[in-house]
Amino acid sequence: MDHQYDVIVIGAGTGGYVAAIRAAQLGLKTAVVEKQQALGGTCLLWGCIPTKALLEHAHALKIAQHAKDWGLTIGSSAVGIDMNQVQARKDRIVTGLTKGVEFLFKKNKIDWIKGTARLTGRSGVEIFEGEKQTLTAHKEIIVATGSAPRSVPGIEIDRKRIITSDEAIHLRDVPKSIAILGSGAVGVEFASIFRRFGSDVTIIELLPRLVPVEDEAVSAELEKAFKKQGITSHTSAKATGARANADGVELDVQLADGKAKQLRADYLLVATGRGPVTTGLDAEGVGLQMEKGYIKVDAQYKTNVPGISAIGDVITLGGPGHPQLAHVSSAEGIITAERIAGQEVRPLNYDHVPGCTYCDPEIGSVGLSEAEAKSRGYDVRVGTFPFGVLGRAKMAGETEGFVKIVADKKYDELLGVHMIGLRSTELVAEATAALRLESTVEELIRTIHAHPTMAEAIGEAAHAVHGAAIHL
Ligand SMILES: Cc1cc2nc3c(=O)[nH]c(=O)nc-3n(C[C@H](O)[C@H](O)[C@H](O)COP(=O)(O)OP(=O)(O)OC[C@H]3O[C@@H](n4cnc5c(N)ncnc54)[C@H](O)[C@@H]3O)c2cc1C
Repeated sequence: MDHQYDVIVIGAGTGGYVAAIRAAQLGLKTAVVEKQQALGGTCLLWGCIPTKALLEHAHALKIAQHAKDWGLTIGSSAVGIDMNQVQARKDRIVTGLTKGVEFLFKKNKIDWIKGTARLTGRSGVEIFEGEKQTLTAHKEIIVATGSAPRSVPGIEIDRKRIITSDEAIHLRDVPKSIAILGSGAVGVEFASIFRRFGSDVTIIELLPRLVPVEDEAVSAELEKAFKKQGITSHTSAKATGARANADGVELDVQLADGKAKQLRADYLLVATGRGPVTTGLDAEGVGLQMEKGYIKVDAQYKTNVPGISAIGDVITLGGPGHPQLAHVSSAEGIITAERIAGQEVRPLNYDHVPGCTYCDPEIGSVGLSEAEAKSRGYDVRVGTFPFGVLGRAKMAGETEGFVKIVADKKYDELLGVHMIGLRSTELVAEATAALRLESTVEELIRTIHAHPTMAEAIGEAAHAVHGAAIHL
């Protein structure tokens, strides 16, 4: 039987499910095809939510480990962690949220078609795994099939000892040792989780610094903090081979000085990035233009085939890498649904996408780094304010880190805000709004920041850009 819709979305991740809800809100008859047993995609099932739940456990453990400093009396035996309980709580959070999306589908009268979809033309979709059926989209098909972990040459993922984040979130024992390949957001978040739980953690990063997409000052601060916590980092280092056996992994690494080193760990976590998911979709069959496996779209997320658009981790807009982030996929989903419903939409400004990394200390950043601003020809001036001076940071016992503002000297325009330290992933929201509103540094200075808060560091960093921080 052929089922008729205005919009058919393939994939119920943060791109697809949000696009579907917005389309339904705008009166479009909408269906979502999802091959997993639960809605929410990578973010809810294997990504943002489970990792941040584990990080909250790591944070709770940190407080308990420092009980004495807080005047807490919690018995004389060493504080431990029960991984079964940790996993059970994390799973409850994930299930609660996926059920929440199911509820929203019902509320908005969105049909969830369970199965795997294939494109059959500019308006046709076939479900070839699951309940076999065909669907027709009278307005548009939105492809939101996301991404999956990928490895690097010489390292074969066996999902037992050489694992990805998909397996790492389910580990029921704390590994004695873990090597982590890659120091992007996923790599450093797991480094923080496992180190806090008690593992020996070694990071191998090909580029010269940790979190290479961040401002250089942030990378340096994280490296310092990780070293203090006992995390070993090898930067400018290349993993050339890995051999797994029943109880561990042997890893060959070429260090920065060119010397070869062999490492042994209980697990090797490969966190070297994610590639697009288009298997079985028959994207090429319907003539979609592809670039390195990604679906090529324009600034309105239209593919080259009329009637088919694509959003989220599976797309490229050409040019520099498209950010693979949940909130980016959702923003693209909303714009696409609104365009399909006939609204006028404006392209996203990818310079205004906030990035949050929930390692310890956490990182929040938005806009241009100092190096990027210089390479774009701005006459740059920066202001930095350390969290260590703030009353609120001292109360929390978390004084590492800073806020750094990158601005343009000529017009006083705010170009980027970079922070590392307590609550940075929340504080970045103010910086994002300021960039969105094209604020000047002067406007941030005149914005009153409540006392005592971590946000005072933003106001102070703005003062510092003008050479006039009050508390330094
Ligand atoms: C460990 C980890 C931590 C992360 N943490 C964060 C974070 O803190 N913040 C953040 O912003 N981002 C984070 N991300 C990234 C974020 O999860 C992704 O950017 C986001 O999920 C992308 O959404 P999407 O809708 O494009 O794709 P996905 O979420 O990957 O969803 C795609 C969906 O499509 C389905 N699908 C694929 N092919 C088909 C088909 N043919 N038929 C039917 N269904 C299909 C899949 O089953 C999947 O459910 C993290 C990722 C990982 C791996």
